[in-house]
Amino acid sequence: TAQVIAHADAAMYAVKRAGRGHYRVYTPELDTRARDAELRDAVENGELVLHFQPVVNLVGGDGIAVEALVRWNHPVRGLQMPGAFIELAEETGAIIPIGEWVLREACRQAVGWSTPTGEKVWLSVNVSARQVTQAGLVDTIREVLAETGFPADRLVLELTESVILQPDEQTVARLSTLREMGIGISVDDFGTGYAALSYLRTLPVSILKIDRSFVDGIDTDPDTYAVAEALVRLARAYRLHVVAEGIETAEQARCMAEMGCTFGQGYHFARPMPGPALADLLASGGVGSQMVAH
Ligand code: C2E
Ligand code: MG
Ligand code: MG
Ligand code: MG
Repeated sequence: TAQVIAHADAAMYAVKRAGRGHYRVYTPELDTRARDAELRDAVENGELVLHFQPVVNLVGGDGIAVEALVRWNHPVRGLQMPGAFIELAEETGAIIPIGEWVLREACRQAVGWSTPTGEKVWLSVNVSARQVTQAGLVDTIREVLAETGFPADRLVLELTESVILQPDEQTVARLSTLREMGIGISVDDFGTGYAALSYLRTLPVSILKIDRSFVDGIDTDPDTYAVAEALVRLARAYRLHVVAEGIETAEQARCMAEMGCTFGQGYHFARPMPGPALADLLASGGVGSQMVAH
């Protein structure tokens, strides 16, 4: 451990000396351990921050959502996006403390958020495979809800397809317990994982989030439109809510609404932003009842 810490210090020193963007890798294995140690410290040192992106209602009706997205405000390298550290955190297990922090912090910030028309505001939190296979997941969530006063029926957990492809019995039981508590279970990046759709019948999921790769081009290419439409129809056949991610143009929003997709998320509506900015946007009615005409 002393060696790892010494290495981490040396790496940090090298970073400081070389400046931003000149981080050098020495030994891959030690480097992983040093980066893991640094990441775990980041949680304790309060270097993680959350941004929130609205998920708007495309077809009217009650309710909108916000998705919590983690960032690492690194003292030397600056604001790091999840692509730069989540994979490592999943490999090393650092995702467990990170995930718990994200859940608690997201609930803490979002508990008071509301729109002028009093719509429901759901909160989506991304949860990794490592967290879902943890025996303590349900207890952790119960604890966070009790502590923050966040209502269970406004919380949604986003899982990727790889998590739920072949879940063990305890994982299925855990997800069922969460559903019984009123928590939503969403399949994130739907369509990018495995073609096995049978899990939709057996798993207690409530929402499909169509990956943005299927949204890209729906406004210009009829074949792409047809595939996205098929995914929406599939979701509806399973009586699931459906969210389209990565909506970047008004025309894409119109197309998704036309297909009967209830919710949309993307830069066209809003980019991820700090909690206070999102709270203001919600309070001003800026993203509530964003009905898209079609
Ligand atoms: P995701 O859950 O699919 O989140 C959506 C990602 O798409 C976000 O990237 C968001 O900024 C981006 N995005 C939203 N609208 C648009 C758009 O219109 N166009 C484009 N090109 N991109 C858009 P971000 O914040 O970099 O997050 C990337 C991924 O990292 C997330 O994908 C999620 O899988 C993971 N992640 C983020 N926060 C957490 C976390 O707290 N825990 C875990 N386990 N994973 C997280
Ligand atoms: Mg997500
Ligand atoms: Mg997604
Ligand atoms: Mg995605």
